[in-house]
Amino acid sequence: MALPRAHLSRRSFLLSSPKPPPFSSFFRYSPHLQSQPNCKIYNSASLHTEESMASARQFEALSRKKLNWKPLCLYHTQGKCTKMDDPTHVERFNHSCSLEVERNGLGLKNFRAQKFDYFLVLDLEGKVEILEFPVLLFDAKTMNVVDLFHRFVRPTKMSEQRINEYIEGKYGKIGIDGVWHDTAIAFDDVIQQFEAWLAIHHLWRKEHGGLLKEAAFVTCGNWDLKTKVPQQCVVARMKLPPYFMEWINLKDIYLNFYKRRAPGMISMMRELQIPLLGSHHVGIDDTRNIARVMQRMLTDGALLQLTARRTPGSSNNVKFLFENRI
Ligand SMILES: [Zn+2]
Repeated sequence: MALPRAHLSRRSFLLSSPKPPPFSSFFRYSPHLQSQPNCKIYNSASLHTEESMASARQFEALSRKKLNWKPLCLYHTQGKCTKMDDPTHVERFNHSCSLEVERNGLGLKNFRAQKFDYFLVLDLEGKVEILEFPVLLFDAKTMNVVDLFHRFVRPTKMSEQRINEYIEGKYGKIGIDGVWHDTAIAFDDVIQQFEAWLAIHHLWRKEHGGLLKEAAFVTCGNWDLKTKVPQQCVVARMKLPPYFMEWINLKDIYLNFYKRRAPGMISMMRELQIPLLGSHHVGIDDTRNIARVMQRMLTDGALLQLTARRTPGSSNNVKFLFENRI
């Protein structure tokens, strides 16, 4: 049973109504701007209404300034950057998968041994069909990112015109529609490449029943694995892979550990005073921010356990494993 809203802390209230900091314009450009005449400025934007767009932007701009942040090369994250010998490009865009966090500032005295060796942080984008599939491989002992898997996904059942409109609406405003069109591949190809990546990291083998080995997915909410992946598998006429049958909803862990509700990633970050980096609702950036929340929760002593499991043989029946759920 979910806790009532009265359990919200005063701090949460204060943080959800911040004084507006001086807004600093911080523009992010598509990495291969010169080769794409239609590329637009990659500015921060939230396309959804989970929290106030304006305050998320202010929070984001302040956070970038504070940590001297630079944008990820979205070609590199997909193994497709061709400009690694261009010093200007390398200087301008981040080509590392590690998290921008001052780990020295995190105490380890509360850290608990985890049941899983690795966490796979997943945060899909795309409501009608999946448009982006980003996964961070996070080591539960070193508490940092080992590797990432990132692909833009081309919808299966949409006309070219609808795809163009969809991508313009979703990514055009933040100037990454060009890299999406350059790199997006079909969902079944994404899954095939994802399984090869899991196998390289010794986390999965088809011959071993297709389940994850010593790893678990971590999501912010149940939507990604309860709803969206099964829907996309139906559209793509694929069987739901067995490793998508169980997951950890970080919001449920957050509620049970801190005894406070957090409706979304931004609210968790505000409460924990973790700077927001990148563009909210760009999947790879959200995934990194969720990983940073998880990193903090681990250092605070949280135990990350499975929160949901799908009944084998059923695509709809999900059992939730925690009594208190968001
Ligand atoms: Zn690059």
